Amino acid sequence: LFESSMPFEAFKLNSDGLIPCVTQHYKTGEVLMVAYMNKESYEKTIRTGRMTYWSRSRNELWTKGDTSGHYQFVKSLTIDCDKDTILAKVSQIGAACHTGSRTCFFTDLVRKEYNDTNPMKVFEEVYNTIRDRKDQPGDDSYTNYLFGKGIDKILKKVGEGATEIVIAAKNPDSEDIKYEISDFLYHLMCLMVERGISWKDITEELADRR
Ligand code: AMP
Ligand code: ZN
Ligand code: ZN
Repeated sequence: LFESSMPFEAFKLNSDGLIPCVTQHYKTGEVLMVAYMNKESYEKTIRTGRMTYWSRSRNELWTKGDTSGHYQFVKSLTIDCDKDTILAKVSQIGAACHTGSRTCFFTDLVRKEYNDTNPMKVFEEVYNTIRDRKDQPGDDSYTNYLFGKGIDKILKKVGEGATEIVIAAKNPDSEDIKYEISDFLYHLMCLMVERGISWKDITEELADRR
């Protein structure tokens, strides 16, 4: 299925003759698991496009998913600078961990307080909230008021919002423009929900233009 740019013999193996492989979700970059490979498992991975490791506990070739169905389909395999670790990006069926967890890394040893929310996720979250409002109208929600008025009201808000951005852009204070852009994006998302357009539709269109 694949052709490796380097033979297994070029890799630097550990004292057991194995090479560790860090396996990541190909889209999110989430680290799913770490396991080891020998020559046979590496070559089977290349040949089949399914992640195949060497099980140190069972001492056998191990195609991840053969008993659970939780296969990992190879998107890329990369070797690090000193050739002693493989990085795999995969499309993961089901859970990577045998405990049923998405990732094997769910046990904290130490942790600082931090905010790791992906800023781009806010778009999805606000969009979903707007869609939920439309599906299940609540009483004093401005969003429901908008949907109640119909698409022309939403279009009017989008049009006015665009003008407000132009006006705010003339103002050297950046608080104004931040407010207006946010207001505009909210109304734009109402329009998207009304017309059944998702962020995926938009990001795919944008990506196609690159
Ligand atoms: P699977 O390859 O998912 O069909 O699982 C086969 C066996 O491999 C399981 O019964 C576990 O013992 C072991 N196993 C599966 N996934 C992992 C993992 N992420 N880390 C360590 N062992 C695993
Ligand atoms: Zn290294
Ligand atoms: Zn695990």
